[in-house]
Amino acid sequence: KQNDKKQNDRKSAGFVLVRGAREHNLKNVDLDVPRDALVVFSGVSGSGKSSLAFGTLYAEAQRRYLESVAPYARRLMDQVGVPAVDSIDGLPPAIALQQQRGSPNARSSVGSVTTLSSLLRMLYSRAGSYPPGQPMLFAEDFSPNSPQGACPGCHGLGHVFEVTEETMVPDPTLTIRDRAVAAWPPAWHGQNLRDILVSLGHDIDKPWHKLPRKTRDWILYTEEQPTVPVYAGFGPEETRQALASGIEPSYQVAAQRIASAVSQRVETLVGLGLGYLSLDRSTPTLSPGELQRLRLATQIRSNLFGVVYVLDEPSAGLHPADAESLYAAFDALKQAGNTLFVVEHDLHLIRRADWLVDVGPDAGEKGGRILYSGPPEGLQDVTASHTARYLFGAAPAARDARAQARVARDYLRLEGIRHNNLHGVAAAFPIGALTTVTGVSGSGKSSLVSHALVDLVSAHLGQEVAREEQGDGEGEGPVSSMRAAGRLAGGQDAIRRLVVVDQKPIGRTPRSNLATYTGLFDDVRRLFASTRAARARRYDAGRFSFNVAKGRCDTCEGEGFVSVEMLFMPSVYAPCPKCHGARYDEATLSILWNGKSIADVLGLTVEAARAFFADQPSIARSLSVLEDIGLGYLRLGQPATELSGGEAQRIKLGTELQRSQRGSTLYVLDEPTTGLHPADVDRLMRQLHALVDARNTVVLVEHDVRVMAQSDWIIDLGPGAGAEGGRIVASGTVETVVANKLSRTAPYLRQAWA
Ligand code: ADP
Ligand code: ADP
Ligand code: ZN
Repeated sequence: KQNDKKQNDRKSAGFVLVRGAREHNLKNVDLDVPRDALVVFSGVSGSGKSSLAFGTLYAEAQRRYLESVAPYARRLMDQVGVPAVDSIDGLPPAIALQQQRGSPNARSSVGSVTTLSSLLRMLYSRAGSYPPGQPMLFAEDFSPNSPQGACPGCHGLGHVFEVTEETMVPDPTLTIRDRAVAAWPPAWHGQNLRDILVSLGHDIDKPWHKLPRKTRDWILYTEEQPTVPVYAGFGPEETRQALASGIEPSYQVAAQRIASAVSQRVETLVGLGLGYLSLDRSTPTLSPGELQRLRLATQIRSNLFGVVYVLDEPSAGLHPADAESLYAAFDALKQAGNTLFVVEHDLHLIRRADWLVDVGPDAGEKGGRILYSGPPEGLQDVTASHTARYLFGAAPAARDARAQARVARDYLRLEGIRHNNLHGVAAAFPIGALTTVTGVSGSGKSSLVSHALVDLVSAHLGQEVAREEQGDGEGEGPVSSMRAAGRLAGGQDAIRRLVVVDQKPIGRTPRSNLATYTGLFDDVRRLFASTRAARARRYDAGRFSFNVAKGRCDTCEGEGFVSVEMLFMPSVYAPCPKCHGARYDEATLSILWNGKSIADVLGLTVEAARAFFADQPSIARSLSVLEDIGLGYLRLGQPATELSGGEAQRIKLGTELQRSQRGSTLYVLDEPTTGLHPADVDRLMRQLHALVDARNTVVLVEHDVRVMAQSDWIIDLGPGAGAEGGRIVASGTVETVVANKLSRTAPYLRQAWA
């Protein structure tokens, strides 16, 4: 009874109430979080933050939305499942701004994502100066339902749902003039569409349902871009007369307003630290963090309210100096009456939360509980929380966590580097040390490290490496195939091998997983083939591979999943109806090693597998490396499609670490801390330092000040972004960079260093 009362009080006080959440590793948890607030979800990597924010809250909001608009979505939900939760009350509609690591559409650009391109087109068509004699031209894209057309609710967020006439025209008794097409944007843009229809001779004063079917379909679904002179505000008859008598079309309706809309949007972009992006920059060349902020900027101008925005580590790729503008963007969305659910590791943002939900205490099976839910300061008393240790200073300071800085004897020197905003830069990376390259977003870090350094060293080694996944024919098109110009000018003979550990997926289908990628599955298959039962049936190691026809399930061909194709959305994987995810046929599954089938082994977590294979040295060694870099919670067979970018990157790193160390290798990592809790970051740094101890060289691009503070050497780029960056502002030990007056990194580094 008392519980019921409390629940009702909370509901009316503007809370979202979650009961019995069990998605993934969540332990049947209850949670109350406020609306109209900034709610941050924290916890170590794999603790269950995303399962709660995305897998439960967002998934439920999406399910409700899909159910309300598309009947066919209901069938789909039956196939892919609904979130495992008893109930959610008080949940507003939600919009996810996730970091997309898949293959974003090559055709979209900074201009199209922000809608700035169409505004500029309109501005030029109306206010541009025309050569004498050329009539004024005008084109609009009518179709809100074309894949390019933006859904009014999501403003081109990338989730375009199939829309029906009923959803676009909720009240068919209205006329076009009275905004029958609710899907059209309000104000001048919608008015333009209306004016164009007038010029084309359609009756905008007839109730929608009285218009001919053909006309209605054309208006809603056409992809044509009619080019007609437009007379704003004229009815059909006046327009006909105006056309006949060749009167100048009127456009002076609008130019000023468009110009001010353009400048407002540009201000928002500049505010979010994206001012250096050009409008024609295609989205695949943007980092996931840049793309997410671009979408965020678009949202701020969308004037939606009463919506929950669910974000995934928005601070990723953001220099601390850029973060202030992100916080301002959050404030603006909140002020407009929206709610923000943010999965985040950044301690600054955690401190700024109105409400903190700490999930844990550890990853996978050992996580999935709500350790704390309330204002951030209250977390201090929660001893089980790793977040609390870092938030309230109980963890060792970065300076103490660092080993003695190494002194390099030799440098890998690059000269005359030209790429993007680098114009003839020279850089020196200490060999046998850990270097972090820093600088505000857009200052040129990736251009220097992931492009120039990687291109020049790989060319020198004759090694075709690195950006193996880029432009790989998945519709991405060529992604900056330009090689960086420049030369190596010393130290290159000390480097014999180059390894780039990036965040790209380890595979794009459920066919690759942790066990296959690291190679440990080969040993496991040999073990199964060596059992007496397998030998009696002449099953070789190939029989235990789900990638060859011999022993795998023939329905899903060993994937364990079948893919469900969807219009306008990425395809979705649903469990195989025959093997239910086991991947193998009955005969193969009947072979057991120490009581487990090959499918049982794929279902083990790394941690459990290490105990199970304790007496198999080679398998156990791979597994203990993976456990050391914080992946103990992953299941061996967890499909690549379920892994985050950060997890994929750590699997690659683990695969490298388990190789016998010969030294003389250059490791390059772009933002390895993405998705990592500070506790995970310290663990990662210990591994990277171990690589350097084994006589290798490590170069990182990073924004995390804890990482900077634990580096032997820092190269700070800037001072600003784009054309205002591209120079080396400071280069040296942490002490040197902290003292630099021009560096925008120095003030933040000083805080971590103090
Ligand atoms: P976090 O966001 O805190 O890093 P997640 O919510 O992504 O953690 O993961 C929590 C647990 O759920 C982990 O053990 C992870 O391996 C598991 N998990 C994540 N996604 C899936 C999935 N699609 N299927 C099964 N398990 C998953
Ligand atoms: P950082 O890694 O410091 O964020 P980048 O090296 O990615 O910076 O970018 C430096 C500059 O080069 C920026 O002005 C950016 O817009 C530009 N740039 C980066 N990649 C491309 C590309 N593929 N095409 C055009 N310009 C690019
Ligand atoms: Zn199957």
